[in-house]
Amino acid sequence: MKRILPGALAVLLASGAMAAGPQPHWGYQGEHAPEHWAEMDPGFETCALGQMQSPIDIHDAHLADLPKIGFDYHAGPAEAVNNGHTIMVNLPDSGGIDIGGTHYALVQFHFHTPSEEKIDGEAYPMEAHFVHKDAEGHLAVVAVMLKEGSENAALEEIFDTLPAAEGDKHALGALDPAALLPTQRGYYAYTGSLTTPPCSEGVRWQVLKQPIEVSESQIEALRELYPANARPVQPLNGREVQESRS
Ligand SMILES: [Zn+2]
Repeated sequence: MKRILPGALAVLLASGAMAAGPQPHWGYQGEHAPEHWAEMDPGFETCALGQMQSPIDIHDAHLADLPKIGFDYHAGPAEAVNNGHTIMVNLPDSGGIDIGGTHYALVQFHFHTPSEEKIDGEAYPMEAHFVHKDAEGHLAVVAVMLKEGSENAALEEIFDTLPAAEGDKHALGALDPAALLPTQRGYYAYTGSLTTPPCSEGVRWQVLKQPIEVSESQIEALRELYPANARPVQPLNGREVQESRS
């Protein structure tokens, strides 16, 4: 057994204390980029070994009789957080979704730029992920594409005062996440993963077909903090992507 001298131990503890948190500081550029995530921590190995990873390029989807997503979102307390990877809005009591008889409570939503999912090879300038959890902890994500257009009033409060530094957070007025959904709720469905470490699989993905609009300055506001925080698309490995008929 290797002996650790007190001095060496102190250095180890100090370097541990300097780390940003319990997780290695993964990111999107250079040595922290997605192709290195699996090397950064044994707990991240699924990022390299997983066969059902997200995001994907959605193409040749199969039309299917998918159940409607039953949104029961409502206004509730909300808090915007800069978590060092994105701007995330925590929603502890804002309803959820029902898909085929399973209810998933909304936990948070956050943003990526450019979009992570592609549709027929094309990325959108931004994508929002609404993350939900059922009673047993299974995850379901509803992805909404954001295209450049008019200013999005529902996003105004968040984007006017984005928490600028990692760890910053601030309370928002009661936010109704339903205001961030497009009017048409048709979607693509596939089984994938978290798009960030630890890249855990078994996540139920619903990518809404209709985008919502945000202004150029709202896109720029996010890009000032996070110029690019999208994982590249991952191989389908034989997975089927389904598309709702409406
Ligand atoms: Zn995401």
